[in-house]
Amino acid sequence: MFQVAIYGKGGIGKSTMAANISYSLASRGRKVMQIGCDPKHDSTRQLLGGRAQTTVLDYARSVPVLKRKLEDVTETGAGGVICAEAGGPEPGIGCAGRGILTTFDTLKKLGADSLDVDIKIYDVLGDVVCGGFAVPLRGEYADAVVLVTSGEFMSMYAANNIMKGLSNFDTGKPRLLGMILNCRGVENEIESVGKFADAAGVPIIAVIPRDYSFREAEAKGATVRELFGDSDISARIDSIADAISSAADGRAELRYPHPLDDLQLSDLAAGRDIRPGSGVPQQRSACSGCGRRTSIKGTRIMSSCAAFGAVAALTKLTDYEVLIHGPRSCMYLMDMSRGSISMKLHSKGAYETLPVHNLRCTMMDDSVSIFGGVRLLEESLEETISDGCMKIAVVTACMPGIIGDDCAGVIEKVSSRHPGAVIACIQTDGDVAGSYDEGMAMASEFICGLMDPSVRPEKGLVNLVSYSFFNIESSRYRGELGRILSLFGLSVNCRFMDETTSGRVRDFCRASMDLPVSGDRMTAEMIAVITERTGRKPFPLPLPVGMRQYAEWLRLMGETLGMEEAAESELRRAEEEYGEFLAKHKRRFEGKKVIMLNRRGDWLAELLDDLGADIVRMGMMSGLPRTYSTASSRMSGRVTEDYSWEMLAADLKEFDPDLLIADLPYPVAGKCRVARTRKVGIGTVGPMDYAVYLENVMRLPAKEGWKEAAR
Ligand code: SF4
Repeated sequence: MFQVAIYGKGGIGKSTMAANISYSLASRGRKVMQIGCDPKHDSTRQLLGGRAQTTVLDYARSVPVLKRKLEDVTETGAGGVICAEAGGPEPGIGCAGRGILTTFDTLKKLGADSLDVDIKIYDVLGDVVCGGFAVPLRGEYADAVVLVTSGEFMSMYAANNIMKGLSNFDTGKPRLLGMILNCRGVENEIESVGKFADAAGVPIIAVIPRDYSFREAEAKGATVRELFGDSDISARIDSIADAISSAADGRAELRYPHPLDDLQLSDLAAGRDIRPGSGVPQQRSACSGCGRRTSIKGTRIMSSCAAFGAVAALTKLTDYEVLIHGPRSCMYLMDMSRGSISMKLHSKGAYETLPVHNLRCTMMDDSVSIFGGVRLLEESLEETISDGCMKIAVVTACMPGIIGDDCAGVIEKVSSRHPGAVIACIQTDGDVAGSYDEGMAMASEFICGLMDPSVRPEKGLVNLVSYSFFNIESSRYRGELGRILSLFGLSVNCRFMDETTSGRVRDFCRASMDLPVSGDRMTAEMIAVITERTGRKPFPLPLPVGMRQYAEWLRLMGETLGMEEAAESELRRAEEEYGEFLAKHKRRFEGKKVIMLNRRGDWLAELLDDLGADIVRMGMMSGLPRTYSTASSRMSGRVTEDYSWEMLAADLKEFDPDLLIADLPYPVAGKCRVARTRKVGIGTVGPMDYAVYLENVMRLPAKEGWKEAAR
C-alpha cells in the first residue's frame, strides 16, 4: 500500500482537492482510502453526498474498547473510496494534534491496515504548529507528500513549514512529490508560487484555476471530478492522480525538501527575486535507522519530573489532599515510589504514625487529552471537597500543560463556590517545569508561604529543615537525635518538610532555632526561601555525621546556647565510646586497601582512616549527581575528579583492593568485595553502624568461590 499525505493551510481547499484526487484515483482502478485529519472533519463530505460521517475520536470517546468496530467509523463513498474522519476538539481546548495520533492508533487497532486498499490519502491541516499535526509526515504514514498552496504568502509560508517538518522526519529517502497551486486569484499568483517552488526545488504538479464548478459540486455534495468528468479541471485533477499513481509504482521522482530560510521568505513576501539559500543540506546521508539514532552518552538523565518533586513535598502536609491533574499512570508511579518509602520509614520507626494516603488523581485518559481536561479537574475538586477535604493542592502533570488546560480558572470557579476551601495549584506541567528538584522547590515555596512570621519564638523548640530526612530513617537514629537535642533542653517544633501539617508549618516561627538536617544544595535552597519569608537565619552546621563533625557541632551548639559544659560532657562520652569501638573493630580493617566511589561526605573517609584502612582511591565519577561540594570538603585534595569506569578497571588491576565502596552497581565479577554506601544516621552512631556492615562484608571471601565449587 502506498500512503500519501496531502498538506495545505487551513481553508486553502486541500479537502476539496483530496476528495477529487481520491475519486480520480478510484476511477482509474485504484483501491483508495481517504482519512481526514482536520478537526473540522469535512474532508470526506464530497465523497459521501454531502453527509458528515462519525469521527473516530467521537466514536472512541463514547464506545468502550471491546465494542468498537471498524465499520462504525468507515464508510464507502463515491467511486468506492473508503472514508474516515479523525475529528477533534473544539477550537481553543484540548489537543487536536494528539487526536491525530489517537485516530491512527484506533484505526490500526480496528484493523484498517488489513483493508483491501492500494493507496491511502491523508488529508492534513497544514498549519504544522506542533508534533501532532506532523504525525502523518512520519515515515510509517507518508511514502509521499503533496503540498497544496495558493499565491497568498501565508499559504506558501505554511507549505514551507511542512517542508521543515518533513526534514525533521527524514527517513533517509526522498518523499516530496510536488506542489499543487490552487489559485485564489491573487496578483501574480502563478509567478509567486513559481519562484517559491523553484527556490525550494519542488515541481508544481498541477495548477488548478478558480472555477465555479467547485462551488456547484460542493453544494451537491460531490466532487468536480465526479460531476464534470470531461472538464478541463477534471483533466488537471487526473494529472495529479497520475503523478501519485506513478509514485506508487516507483516511476515518479520524489525529492528531499529544501525549505526556504528566513531571508528567502522575506524576499518571497516582498515579491523580490529569491536569493540563494544558506545551502544547509536538508537531507541526511545516513540510513533511516542510523539517521535517527541518538545517544545519551555524556548527558544526565533527569531523576524524575517536577510534578513528582512537588507531589513528594506536598504529601508531607498530612492535612492536605494532593490532587494530580494528569493520567493515572503518573499517579501510579509517584504513589508506588512515595508509598513504599513512607511504609519503609514507618516500619523502621522513623515515623510516629502510619503514613496518611493523601494523594488523588483526576485520571485523565486519552480522550481527555484530546478534548481538554478542565471539566474533569472541576469534577475531581468537587468530589474531593464533598469528601470533607477542604485543603487541596493541585499538581499538574505533563498532559494538562501540553493541551493548555486553564487550571487556575477552574480553581477560581470551584473556590468561589466553596469559600471555606483552600485550593492551591502547583503548575509543574510534568517535566516542563524541570526535574524533581525544581518541583520540590516550587512546592516548598508554596509551603513556606503558609508560615506566619508574626508568631513569637519560644525557648527550647527547634525546627528540623531538609528536603530529605533519609539520614534519620529509623527509630534508632530518631531516638539518637532526640537524645542529643535533649542534652540541650531542646525538642522539635516542626519537621520541615516531613510528616508535618499546615498548622505546624504556620507556627514554624515558634521555634527559636532552625537546624539543617543535611548540608546539600536542595536544603540550602529551601533554607533561603524560609529566610526570605521569615527573615530567620539557620544554625550554621548541618546535623553531624562522624566524630569530627559531631565535636564541631556540639561545641557550636554549646556556645550558642551558653551550655558549653553540657557540650563538653557529651563530647567526652562520645569520644570514649568511639575510641572503644575503634579498638574493637580496627583489626579487620588495618592496612586493607579500599577504593571509594562517589563519596557523599567526609565521614566515610574519616571513619576508614580511623579504622586504619588504606584508601588507595577516592573517585568522583563525572555526570553523576553529587549532594555535597568537594570545595568545602576536608578531603578535597584526595579526590580524583572525573573518574571513569576505565580508570576503575585499571585501579582494580593495579591495587587489587580488598574492598570497593560504591553507590553504583559495578560488575567486579568476583575480583573484589563490594559494599554499598547508604544512609548514614547521625552523630557517631550512624558511622559505627556502617563500620559493622563493612566488617561483615570484609568477612566474605576475597574472591568469589562458591560458583566454581557448585560446578
Ligand atoms: S514526566 Fe509527565 S508523564 Fe511522566 S510521570 Fe511526570 S507528569 Fe507523568
